Amino acid sequence: MVLRRLYTVVGILILGMALLGGLQLVTSSTPAGDISGTLGRQLLLVSPPSGQVQLLATLPVTVHVQIALTNTTGFIASAQPAAYASVRASGADALLLDSDTRNKVYYFLDAQAKNAHLLADRWGTTVYSDDRQILLAIPAARERSFLDAVAQNPIHIELLTGKPLYLGERAGTTVPKTVTGEANAAVASLLSLVTPDRLSAIIADLSGNRSVSINGRTLTLFTRYTFSKQIGDATSYVRQALARLGLSPQDVPWSYGRYSGVNIIADIRGRSNPDRIWLIGGHVDDTSQTPYTRAPGADDNASGIASMLVIADILRQHQFQDTIRFVAFSGEEQGMWGSKSYAGRLAASGAQIAGYIDLDMIGWDGDNDHRVELHSGTRQSSIVLANAFAAANARYGSGLIIEIKQGTASRFSDHSSFWDVGYPAILAIEDFFADGRAADRNPRYHNSGDLLANVRLDYVTRYTQAALATIAELAGLTDTQTATPTPTSTASLQATPTARPPSPSTATATLTPTPAGGTGTCRDLMANGNMEAAFGWTFGRTARPASYTDAAVFAGNHGLRTGIEPWTLDRRSHSSAYQSVAIPQDAASALLTAQIRRGTGDGTGDYQEILLLTPGYRLVRTLYRGLANDADWQTVRYDLTSLAGQTVVVYFNVYNDGDGRRTWMYADDVHLSVCIP
Ligand SMILES: [Zn+2]
Repeated sequence: MVLRRLYTVVGILILGMALLGGLQLVTSSTPAGDISGTLGRQLLLVSPPSGQVQLLATLPVTVHVQIALTNTTGFIASAQPAAYASVRASGADALLLDSDTRNKVYYFLDAQAKNAHLLADRWGTTVYSDDRQILLAIPAARERSFLDAVAQNPIHIELLTGKPLYLGERAGTTVPKTVTGEANAAVASLLSLVTPDRLSAIIADLSGNRSVSINGRTLTLFTRYTFSKQIGDATSYVRQALARLGLSPQDVPWSYGRYSGVNIIADIRGRSNPDRIWLIGGHVDDTSQTPYTRAPGADDNASGIASMLVIADILRQHQFQDTIRFVAFSGEEQGMWGSKSYAGRLAASGAQIAGYIDLDMIGWDGDNDHRVELHSGTRQSSIVLANAFAAANARYGSGLIIEIKQGTASRFSDHSSFWDVGYPAILAIEDFFADGRAADRNPRYHNSGDLLANVRLDYVTRYTQAALATIAELAGLTDTQTATPTPTSTASLQATPTARPPSPSTATATLTPTPAGGTGTCRDLMANGNMEAAFGWTFGRTARPASYTDAAVFAGNHGLRTGIEPWTLDRRSHSSAYQSVAIPQDAASALLTAQIRRGTGDGTGDYQEILLLTPGYRLVRTLYRGLANDADWQTVRYDLTSLAGQTVVVYFNVYNDGDGRRTWMYADDVHLSVCIP
């Protein structure tokens, strides 16, 4: 506390200048990443006359936070003694909230949370409250016990720091870009790569549903509480996951008083405007009534981190005009400590932040109505960001029912840290806050019952698809295809007479495409493309027929095997899996994507292939034919748009010549994404 007081003096002196000049206030004595700042002696609620926010800059106060009041806007400010009188004389409305801030810390509490007022009365003095927030003064000596008590309740809090609020929008970093018009086929093709399996795998890891391997150690993430020993494992998990994607994660430390932690960030660097940065992510820390021993936090907020990591995994293979930065904050449940530090650093360095999409609690949909909330606040740049998200949801058929909250927006997540330094940001959350309508918030948040089993994966999938489409469009996806691997052979029809399924008569009975996926303009035509069920695919009746397998899985619990694995008996045999799809006449785009993993011990004679056949099993197109060994799963993409109006059989096959050297190919997440204008 002593140190923090020392930094105050400089801040107060240049406060007025900073507001007038629109300058970011950074004192040289402030430790890097520290967020506490300094409060003046008095705490005030100031409300300038409507449309006269600029008046604040002329007052002898430091403005810290903007809050929505009924019919107007209020600002929590601090000032030296006697300022209150001159504020009143200026024509602004002002309330003296606390005449002496010394040896106190201040926290906002979500007033809609259960026990909010009980907690407030137990731990401090309520200096302000309305139907959304309580501002609580707490003796500084009791801060840590207050935080541990709060941790055990389903409530979100926010630290009031002494840092000055950046009034208005930061020049040059507002969001001018509005994406309109048709769905982009390249973006649409990415959405089917977002699957419940990929999301649930990460949520399972983060919520202690199963053990994980972190830096070579096998462990279970029982808790991600900021003050627990395991918070380091949780951040390591995120760092490791981003590193595995080939991104280069960085640790960005933060500090608050005697506490410290790290945020993790990783970039896909923009090709044209690398300095223009779009942020997406959420907080990795969590809490519960048993925060040190068991806090699964599946919805709050493994859901948001899983979404961020899946989006990173998909987008890393593409190119963008602007930089996309993936972020994982810690210290959120203590009042957004990590993000306050990070947003402050960005602003101090003059970073050009185009917007932050904060994914926090995107896993609960108790009434299955697909309703979500986007909290934009009232600034235009953030509203544009929320509108872009809603437009992407509509254009790509993610199926969310979106409510954009402006005047009634909540501050209780990391997005508000960005608002306060003048950057555009939105909170993307489940149907959490009541505004004249009953909310549908997770009843088990901040509880050891916040488990993967209670997460609605379909909802997280839709939310992630909409977020992916939003960020891909805003950052300017520039490539149209990244074919890895490139088909290595252009075998003619004559060269592949044996490509025919040997028993077409048994195949025709099940060749009915079953659309699975979105309900809007884009949908996935493949049936059971993720291989998790036992329908959709037909296996040719050969000596070594293909099958579903749990031996090689890209996501979920099952994949598809074609060919002969090393540990089984070699034979001369085809081994095929196929299904028929009807590509609509009016399809504006049709993109076939799949994960494949090929293996062989042979050098000649055998081959792996992916073909398109007519319903009568004549070759339409060879998408791939070769003999390859893959160290890992490969994404393949084929543009089938020119086949609109045709029914084709998607055909995976491996041929073994029976010479004792085997060849095989696994496939998973096979999707044919079709978009109708
Ligand atoms: Zn929370």
